[in-house]
Amino acid sequence: MGADHYDEGRVASVGVTRRRGAGEEGRDEMTTTTSPKGKTLERNLSNKEKAIELWCNVKHQLVEYSALPEYLKDNSFIVRYYRADWSFKHSLYSMFSMHNETFNVWSHLVGFFLFLGLFIYTVVHMPGIVDPETLERWQSGVIMEKLPSYLQLPEALSSCVPGTFDGSRCIQKPITRGPFLVFLVGAMYCMLASTTCHLLGCRSAMTFYTLMRIDYSGIATLIAASFYPPVYYSFMCNPILCNMYLGMITTMGIFSVCASLVPVFQTAEYRNVRAALFFSMGISGIIPCFHKIFLYQDDPMAYQALYNEIYMGIIYAMGALVYATRIPERWKPGMFDIIGNSHQLFHVLVVLGAYVHYRGGLIYLQWRDVKGCPLS
Ligand SMILES: [Zn+2]
Repeated sequence: MGADHYDEGRVASVGVTRRRGAGEEGRDEMTTTTSPKGKTLERNLSNKEKAIELWCNVKHQLVEYSALPEYLKDNSFIVRYYRADWSFKHSLYSMFSMHNETFNVWSHLVGFFLFLGLFIYTVVHMPGIVDPETLERWQSGVIMEKLPSYLQLPEALSSCVPGTFDGSRCIQKPITRGPFLVFLVGAMYCMLASTTCHLLGCRSAMTFYTLMRIDYSGIATLIAASFYPPVYYSFMCNPILCNMYLGMITTMGIFSVCASLVPVFQTAEYRNVRAALFFSMGISGIIPCFHKIFLYQDDPMAYQALYNEIYMGIIYAMGALVYATRIPERWKPGMFDIIGNSHQLFHVLVVLGAYVHYRGGLIYLQWRDVKGCPLS
């Protein structure tokens, strides 16, 4: 029986009718209930309150796939522990109870706080080093040991500190952390959109479809934002290429986010269009990746960055594979309802892939901080 068949107003009015029928003033009456252990409890409840409580309890019970309203029917291999048509308050509080979305909610909420922490860390501890004021602080060596980005800092300092500047290895302006921060903001938005969608999507069809669109826009944002650090730091010494690639990514990102927010985009008929759009966005990263290797084929740092990108690509590909094939729950429907199903694996792989990308961003920063661009 679907919980959507219950109507709050109808049940409440039944409660009022019963109260009047009893010939009472509508005040409280004594009721008696017995717990499973046989212990008797006494509570004062009006009929109306009882009816609402009963309705509320029934409405907010976990249901099976067959009892779901159409908009929540997606993966029939997940059989039980669904929430359907829950109120906002119950949906929100359900993050602390066990159902088949609990892990999805928490995996990306933890991911959000992970990237928020990395964002704050990056802003506070990783300023542009070609800046005399910052350099003075850096020379004290306080932060040096902590950051993998600055393992070769002494070399960078000796060639960039004013006075010791040798005129061949440093660029003339500070190396911006902006592209790195764009990626971290993109990752945070994606994680938060996903968390919200999984937590509150069970409220109603309208809420579900709205949050679904925001969730898709989060995926598009993460993909587009992921291009910024590798593309910017790879081509920063060649402004024409840099602007061309960044312009393409930004255009593609804006188009994908806008497309994700259009209602028709989330329909089943557009499932392949969605997959093709996200796939083509991701796969287009191969072009600047190999272009970079062509430009810097003698530089080991370029290869180190490339290996990292391949590693990240494998993780994302694995995520896409389990997402599309619905493995392992298709092998044993009902066994992975709470833990271990494909969407949960996909979530973990997205967080892992984004974290590997963050580590890759550090390699680029280290590369540019140490080597800069040759002055023409
Ligand atoms: Zn998800």
